[in-house]
Amino acid sequence: MTLPLSHPALSATDPELAALVGAEEQLQADTLRLIPSENYVSQAVLEASGTVLQNKYSEGYAGRRYYEGQQNIDQVERLATARAKALFGVDHANVQPYSGSPANLAVYLAFAEPGDTVMGMALPMGGHLTHGWGVSATGKWFRGVQYGVRQDTGLIDFDEVRDLALKERPKLIFCGGTALPRTIDFAAFAEIARESGAVLVADVAHIAGLIAGGAHPSPVPHADVISTTTHKTLRGPRGAMLMSREEHAKAIDKAVFPGLQGGPHNQTTAAIAVALHEAAQPSFRDYAHAVVDNAKALAEALLARGFDLVSGGTDNHLILMDLTPKDVPGKVAAKALDRAGIVVNYNTVPYDPRKPFDPSGVRIGTPSLTSRGLAAEHMPAVADWIDRGVTAARAGDEDALAAIRAEVADLMAAFPAPGLPTD
Ligand SMILES: *Cc1c(COP(=O)(O)O)cnc(C)c1O
Repeated sequence: MTLPLSHPALSATDPELAALVGAEEQLQADTLRLIPSENYVSQAVLEASGTVLQNKYSEGYAGRRYYEGQQNIDQVERLATARAKALFGVDHANVQPYSGSPANLAVYLAFAEPGDTVMGMALPMGGHLTHGWGVSATGKWFRGVQYGVRQDTGLIDFDEVRDLALKERPKLIFCGGTALPRTIDFAAFAEIARESGAVLVADVAHIAGLIAGGAHPSPVPHADVISTTTHKTLRGPRGAMLMSREEHAKAIDKAVFPGLQGGPHNQTTAAIAVALHEAAQPSFRDYAHAVVDNAKALAEALLARGFDLVSGGTDNHLILMDLTPKDVPGKVAAKALDRAGIVVNYNTVPYDPRKPFDPSGVRIGTPSLTSRGLAAEHMPAVADWIDRGVTAARAGDEDALAAIRAEVADLMAAFPAPGLPTD
């Protein structure tokens, strides 16, 4: 495929940068993107992100700004907020957090004091850095205690979580994570939070789109606070939202602004509004269910090829593979697959004997390929490419990787995505 002439002003002003954008468009067009936290946004979301809303300062909230000239911006933010509330069925939504990590930090600011105990899933077990992990500000400024999954099942042990919560009495309990292939039991977490007097934060960054589309249970009414990014399965711009019952609305809003941030990114707020509108359509329900159907079909096809999947499979969009039985380190496999046009990330697996920068696993997911229209019938081919790629990684067979890359590009050419070059 060759690149059509696009971004004329950018090409004229800064050809060097325009060439990089063009190369990225080509890369996203030609490759099979399996990073479970990534997606392809619609043309409408792309357009909203690239508007003159970029030019405005709007510190404060709709109707309560520190700047004049907010006649339109207030309506944009109100639209985004109303759509978030309607889609997720919550009393309150704040659409201003710059991204998922600052959104989570705002939750700490709203509900805890430095030095307080907070609880989350350990990063190497599938949690997120911002759930109190040591290298994060949340683990340095707060006392993080961490739960995991059982070694024999790969599943959360709620007796262990309860014991830890009752012993440590955390101010906050985070559930949700970045490498969890199974349904999150929000009701079980809520019961433990209630027993231990903690605020339950459901961080649904990865699965927000599945929740919106009815393909994963909702954390409403179980969680006190819901934190989410908008750019993963929700298929919006890079951003985040905090949602809650009315009782926590003031604390959350104050923590985001003026507690942590200055002016909101209005162009992002607009694009979030568009993404929420799209996510409220019947076609998005189909999308969310197709993401899960594809992940299940891919898991089946990988199991049939002898892959070891953490927890034995998946309920959602994500699959975590332990490559130990394949005798290839995760990083070697991930880099080889990248050369084969299949983009994944190396990842720790629970109880990983290897180091986080050179772990045993590879994490994959189906949000992006589903956005391009691939269906369950394509998953055996995807599993085959992964299998051949991992075998080629072990053998150092660059010709085999190049052959896969050509086959992948050939299939992907038939499945265009917004913003990408086509024939
Ligand atoms: C992605 C993610 C975040 C952080 O989002 P950023 O936008 O990368 O800061 C937080 N929590 C979870 C569970 C995530 O998956």
